[in-house]
Amino acid sequence: MKLNKITENVYYIDSAVNIGLIVNEANEALLVDTGIDDSVARKVKRLVEENGYKLRGIIITHAHADHCGGAPHLVKTTGAAVYATATEKPVLECPVLEPVYLFGGAYPPDPLHNKFFLAGGVSVDEVIMPGVQNICGCEVEIVDMAGHALGQVGVAAAGVLFCADSVIAPEVIDKHGIPLNADLAGALETFNRLESRQEKFYLPAHGTLAEDIVPVVGANRRRLIDTLEFIKDLLESPKTVEEILAAACSNFKININNMGQYYLMHLTIMAYLSYMVDRKEITAEYNENRQSFKKLLG
Ligand SMILES: [Zn+2]
Repeated sequence: MKLNKITENVYYIDSAVNIGLIVNEANEALLVDTGIDDSVARKVKRLVEENGYKLRGIIITHAHADHCGGAPHLVKTTGAAVYATATEKPVLECPVLEPVYLFGGAYPPDPLHNKFFLAGGVSVDEVIMPGVQNICGCEVEIVDMAGHALGQVGVAAAGVLFCADSVIAPEVIDKHGIPLNADLAGALETFNRLESRQEKFYLPAHGTLAEDIVPVVGANRRRLIDTLEFIKDLLESPKTVEEILAAACSNFKININNMGQYYLMHLTIMAYLSYMVDRKEITAEYNENRQSFKKLLG
């Protein structure tokens, strides 16, 4: 992990997720995400301080543990204020909600109690909304990036847009098979919004610095549409969620072998079904207490 300069006053730290750093003339720093745990947070804090900056604030783009798990340590050791959207705030403050929603709203079993799904809790000091604003003395624009998570935002500053998980690098799309999305309509709007931006640099949390985001968005949109079409064709005959999930995984060469992987894919499949039900492309039917989805004609 090191501090990489992007433009004057904007940096990123490469870890399993890229962490953004925006600084002002007073050498005060604003982080964009924190990495997954205390160990990453300790390295982030050291890099910030070694370079002469004082950490004042942390914007959490969305409440997934790999983005917010380092926040409790950073808040405890620096007193930095935490900023997040109203939608992501409840999960940040009550982190068991992440494995709870994955497990259908029930108390999650042990295999979902690990640092990938269950971060430490952190209080949100201020709820943020999209728009240009001054946070901790840094001029930033909070950009709506709903889709991957319901209340996800990106952060733009000085010609750089931190894109959170709105898009992933084209070269890892095949590895993911079907990228995680909670809200397809939101994701499609976010893709359009990204293509209309005029930043000089774009940094997806899982990807490399790009000067042109259009091909990255194109690859992500293509996989989303391909998945949508695949599921729609599959539902020519009624299928249960379990059958849809298994067929989609097999088609996109995904091999699930643990509960965490299963429930992330389950959430994504539910997002596709939700999108198609709302557009009256498919409907649910009930037979012998079994729910199936099928394509509607016309
Ligand atoms: Zn995420």
